[in-house]
Parts: sequence; C-alpha cells; structure tokens
Amino acid sequence: MPELPEVEVARRQLEREVAGRKIKSVDVPGKGVVIHHKSKADLTKRLVDHKIKSFDRRGLWVLGKLDRDEVWAVTPGATGRFLRTKTSKVPAGLPIKLTVTFTTGGSVHLLDEDDTAKSFVVTKDDLAETPEIASLGLDPLETPVPWSTFGQVLRTQPKARLKALLQDESLVAGLGPLYSDEILFHAGLRYDRTPESLSAHEIRRLYRSMVETLSAAIKYGGVSLDETDVDMLGNPGEYESEIQVYQRQGLTCNRCRGTIDRVRFQKRNTFFCPDCQS
Ligand SMILES: [Zn+2]
Repeated sequence: MPELPEVEVARRQLEREVAGRKIKSVDVPGKGVVIHHKSKADLTKRLVDHKIKSFDRRGLWVLGKLDRDEVWAVTPGATGRFLRTKTSKVPAGLPIKLTVTFTTGGSVHLLDEDDTAKSFVVTKDDLAETPEIASLGLDPLETPVPWSTFGQVLRTQPKARLKALLQDESLVAGLGPLYSDEILFHAGLRYDRTPESLSAHEIRRLYRSMVETLSAAIKYGGVSLDETDVDMLGNPGEYESEIQVYQRQGLTCNRCRGTIDRVRFQKRNTFFCPDCQS
C-alpha cells in the first residue's frame, strides 16, 4: 500500500538504477493499466528507442523525462509496486501489468494485484493539464510551501475533519491512512479536529509534522506491512519501527505510556493516542 514516502523511495531508485538508459521494449500484459491512449501499442511506440533522462514525482505519480519533450507517467496506485530485475527474464507468478526493458541491463516491472496501477505518455506541455496530475493538491516534499499557505488550503474546508483533509488528493497529494494517522500523532492533533478550530500554532505544528514524518519515512525506506510489500530491489522498508499509532491499538503509547485507541472513521480504522492528541 504505497503512500508518498514509498513512491518517493521508488523514484530515487529509478533515478539511480535506470536514468540515462534507453528503452528497448515495452510489454503490457495487464488490462486497464494504459490510460489516455487509443491502444497499448501507442504507449509502447512512444517509449521504445527513447532514453529516460531523469525521474520526477508528483503525489503517487513517477514522471520519467524522455529524451524529447515527452514524459512517461506511471503510478503504482494504492495497491501496486515496482520491481527491478537485472535481466530481462520475467519472474513467474507475479501480477505484472507493465514491463519496460532497457537496451543495457534488465527491466522495470509495474506490479499490481488490483487495478490501481496506471501509466501513460504525454508531452511535457500537456502534463500539467492531464486530469490525474492537474487534480493534485500540494506535494509537501516536491513543492514546499510556507505553513501559512497550507493553512489557507485547509481553511477552504473549515468544517471538514483533519484526517479526511490529509487524505484528500486535491489538497495534499499522496497521503493515505497510515501516514495521515502518524502525522496527526506527531502534531498532537485528533483526527476529527476541524480547520476552523485550529490556532495558527496548531496549523504550523501540523505542517511541520507532515514534512518531518514524510522525510523520516523516506530515510527509512518507507513501510513494509507484509512480505510482498518491498521496494523495487526486494528490500523491506524499515519505518515500521518508528510507527507510533497505526495498527497499534491496545499497545502502549511511546510518549505518554497511555493506550493507543482505534475508532471507525469514514468506514475505515483510525489509530490515535487519546492522551497525546487533542
Ligand atoms: Zn500518548
């Protein structure tokens, strides 16, 4: 279940592993993964024989800059991941949606058991107008903004709950249930607080917590919640050891020695410390 830190880890690995390489072939065994193209062949044609110069990211989208004015946009979505193989041999039994093979050295595969991984190629000029990219709100790592700007964004929905706002892609890109719970814990704020109830000091604390929590998670390589939840080189992330509330209901709060609570919020579990968060 990738969120922003896991996708940023993938972007950095793609940059290290395959930036500068030329694409030899593209295979798209998955259904529904190619969007904005008439056919899979159209996506393939726009990638093959081109070099990927570098990788950027917006929210959960990785953006490979091609050696002309086009961009290869690819996302693992809410359920997928990337896999790097050093040879072009395709591993058996994996839910491969798309494979990009390079002229020198192996492949990158996009895996997804579900149907959330997507990809397309677009001109650099049209990228910002593409609905999936245009609809994204601020990216706390890619485009840092002053905390007061973050406050203005939150206050466009004064009565909404903080956890819902953090997961609203049109406000903040790339956050899901795990990091929104962790960010709120570090900010000392309950999931059900509203922007209109926040002081300037609390908004600043929330923004700082968001940037610091995400940065720390990237440093640890993100989170791996099960054995298939690994980075593209097969390594698990190590941020679990730093998790304070997510899926820790009934356990002791590391800060106050109270008990972590779990509640249902918007049909999903939310985890928080009733003593540390108010
Ligand atoms: Zn506590």
